[in-house]
Amino acid sequence: MQFIDLQAQRARISDKINAAVAKVIEEGRYIMGPEVKEFERQLAEFSQAEHALGCANGTEAIALPLLAWEVGPGDAVFCPSFTFAATGEVVPWVGASPVFVDIDPSTYNMDPAHLDAAIEMVKAEGKLTPKVIIAVDLFGQPADYPAISAIAKKHGLKLIADSAQGFGCTLNGNHPVHWADAATTSFFPAKPLGCYGDGGAVLTNDAATAERMDSLRVHGKATKSDIEGRTFEHDTKYLNMRVGMNSRLDTIQAAILIEKLAIFADEIEARNRVATRYNEGLDGYVESVPAVIDGGVSVWAQYTIEHKNRAGLQAHLKANGVPSAVYYPIPIHKQDVYSRYPLGPNGLPVSEAKAESVVSLPMHPYMDEETQDQIINAVRSFNA
Ligand SMILES: *Cc1c(COP(=O)(O)O)cnc(C)c1O
Repeated sequence: MQFIDLQAQRARISDKINAAVAKVIEEGRYIMGPEVKEFERQLAEFSQAEHALGCANGTEAIALPLLAWEVGPGDAVFCPSFTFAATGEVVPWVGASPVFVDIDPSTYNMDPAHLDAAIEMVKAEGKLTPKVIIAVDLFGQPADYPAISAIAKKHGLKLIADSAQGFGCTLNGNHPVHWADAATTSFFPAKPLGCYGDGGAVLTNDAATAERMDSLRVHGKATKSDIEGRTFEHDTKYLNMRVGMNSRLDTIQAAILIEKLAIFADEIEARNRVATRYNEGLDGYVESVPAVIDGGVSVWAQYTIEHKNRAGLQAHLKANGVPSAVYYPIPIHKQDVYSRYPLGPNGLPVSEAKAESVVSLPMHPYMDEETQDQIINAVRSFNA
């Protein structure tokens, strides 16, 4: 049994993907070829965003808006600690300081009340300037964007939605970019919308942010508005207007993603069928089955339960041929290299408790009922 069965999807669309890849190889436009632009157009349309830009991975996707907004030394960026390390990692990249915020115990996403308290705390201390909030759509479900964006507005902060696990999720019918100044995702193969290697994207409804990020992902190349009304003696292709980076989405990956995006809505439905069936089969047998925020649709990057004897349950599952995984055993603020950064008031007790009890079960859109019953029965037969 696979934790995530990527080959099942491949069986469904391998002909289309093979043809799309062969076409790119044949045509030879490997860097920023036409498939990249076409995929960006489709991605923007899918998520009801004005602008979508491909980039090299989901980590650099978060760095791009920070760079575009010139976030740097002395600035505070508020983010959860119960997430993949990349969420917090990009903040020191630009010289700013992460400030870690606790999570809601039922959704595992950023706790808006603790966020507000953390911003007030940083303001009162007067050492750092609050600049940005990074909310995470952990395990696939949307963060509480109405509450978080209201707090961002109140304090004059920018909001990034790290939707690497949640791309495709909605809240009251809207995608995270509806509330966020920028929303990011990862196309790492195991994510709900994955490619065949590394890839990422950043979405925004702000034209100026989009233009600056487009420049930054190609070494700070001159944009239209950089050049407008000026004359140059040389090719403007070699003008570098800002210190950027190399963070492009490969044409081959874009071609693969076009085929995968075509079936993504259908896969989100299938993931929700699997999750509902898990909830029905496991409720009452474990400490908790996942709860999704009211009005939210999760894309179920993970199906995560809690158990007080997690190690025992995992050993029992393994003995029954069922793989499981713990996301995340160590919250970021508990990692040595991040331990010097500030925490919101009274620390992060919920994040620390969840790290001890969560365990994720196999989840993918092609799981058949027989396989799922085997998993459900294995959990149910464990008597702690
Ligand atoms: C996977 C992930 C990222 C990073 O994506 P990469 O493409 O691996 O760089 C960032 N944030 C979260 C929450 C993730 O799960």
